[in-house]
Amino acid sequence: MADYDYDLFVIGAGSGGVRASRLAASFGARVAVAEERFLGGTCVNVGCIPKKLLVYASAFREELGEAQEGYGWSVGEPAFDWPRLIENKNREIARLNGVYQGLLDGSGVESIEGRATVTGPNEVSIGGRTASARHILIATGSRAFRPPEIEGVEHAITSDEAFYLDALPERAVIVGGGYIAVEFAGIFRGMGADVSQLYRGPLFLRGFDDDLRQHLAGEMRARGIDLRFDSVPTRIEAGAGGVRATLNDGSQLEADQLLCATGRHPNSADLGLEAVGVECASGGAVVVDEYSRTTVPSIHAIGDVTDRINLTPVAIHEAICLANTLFNDRPMAPSHEAVPAAVFSQPPLGTVGLSEAEARASFPEVDIYRSVFRGLKQTLTASETRCLMKLVVDRASDRVLGLHMAGHEAGEIVQGFAVAVRAGLTKAQFDDTLPIHPTLAEEFVTLREPVTGS
Ligand code: NDP
Repeated sequence: MADYDYDLFVIGAGSGGVRASRLAASFGARVAVAEERFLGGTCVNVGCIPKKLLVYASAFREELGEAQEGYGWSVGEPAFDWPRLIENKNREIARLNGVYQGLLDGSGVESIEGRATVTGPNEVSIGGRTASARHILIATGSRAFRPPEIEGVEHAITSDEAFYLDALPERAVIVGGGYIAVEFAGIFRGMGADVSQLYRGPLFLRGFDDDLRQHLAGEMRARGIDLRFDSVPTRIEAGAGGVRATLNDGSQLEADQLLCATGRHPNSADLGLEAVGVECASGGAVVVDEYSRTTVPSIHAIGDVTDRINLTPVAIHEAICLANTLFNDRPMAPSHEAVPAAVFSQPPLGTVGLSEAEARASFPEVDIYRSVFRGLKQTLTASETRCLMKLVVDRASDRVLGLHMAGHEAGEIVQGFAVAVRAGLTKAQFDDTLPIHPTLAEEFVTLREPVTGS
């Protein structure tokens, strides 16, 4: 057997790359991981973690209002300090970078700072030297994309910059209708900004259950977000202290910042992949088989660079499967079925399994259980916010195919129910579970009558 410098050389120390490195090392492999930017990747530095901290920060305004209106508190006129929040957030991210370094060091993984490229099926180049490896893992993630067809798009920021702005944009325009767009619309609005969100199609959050999409649109508008569908900017100009966007209907919007949240593209360019025969799809995604192996058998890829389901827990799952396959004699193909997800909009969405439309396309008879109601917490306040809960059930087997929620702590609630949906439990088994009263979550086990059937 050929003698290599490493058993595994990982390019990219994000969520997937770090997990694969540590686990492979725990199985006895000699591992190195190269990172050119920051430890922890998008999730830790400019993604999930700082985003959730900003969501927490922005939600206080509504809560303070409710406390004052209905619950007897006097909190005076709230004031928000963006630089203080960003400073605190940056300190926490720096701490997490250190935690990641400690995890790699503690598991015996060699971490190398710099950009690595692939120079052969078993060879990488890094910092002027080459190293050989039995296996190479591409875990380079993705980067924010700004549509080039928008004239002056260079004046727009992406989520990368949004996390480091010097000041809260008092007027913000957000382009896009996916996770990042609705999350930042809620963040900036919650902090008191005037927010316009523009989505190119008739209804945002394509792919999510239609009831959730419509419900969230109503809730965002009720919170004062100027949500416009079938709307895109055609031109962006830099103006005094901000930007001016001209939209497809000819109207104009002025703002302090325009954020493009129009998707992310795989980081697969300039890594030497084509030269060694690793196939990439037209959008740049590295093509892999069910075991995350590329068209070159010694080279593997996981996470956003493969553009399967671009979520941190999915990248980690793919990493765990790969390390077991390569170094633990236990071939594992990652499952991309019934992956639970949350959108940290305001209110948040939680979802697992099939949307109603997906279920109707695959099952002859589908029952829908749905409830839209005012949570107990709102009863003492003037808030009109409503919670939406929905079950999608296969009538023939009684199996719960999909579970969807818009409302307070939807992510926390759906995480628990995801176990039941993934386990293939039936509606009767849901009904058999006693509720915890009074909670929002109890609604999922007390939905008695289907609202529609087919
Ligand atoms: P998404 O793919 O979710 O959404 C991109 C949005 O931009 C869509 O509404 C899309 O429209 C629109 N769009 C794409 N191209 C253009 C264009 N040329 N002009 C106008 N609009 C355009 O990407 P995000 O950037 O929101 O997020 C990236 C990924 O990060 C997500 O896929 C998600 O997996 C992950 N993420 C997960 C989070 C979570 O788990 N809570 C939070 C944030 C991100 P259309 O639908 O019509 O194609």
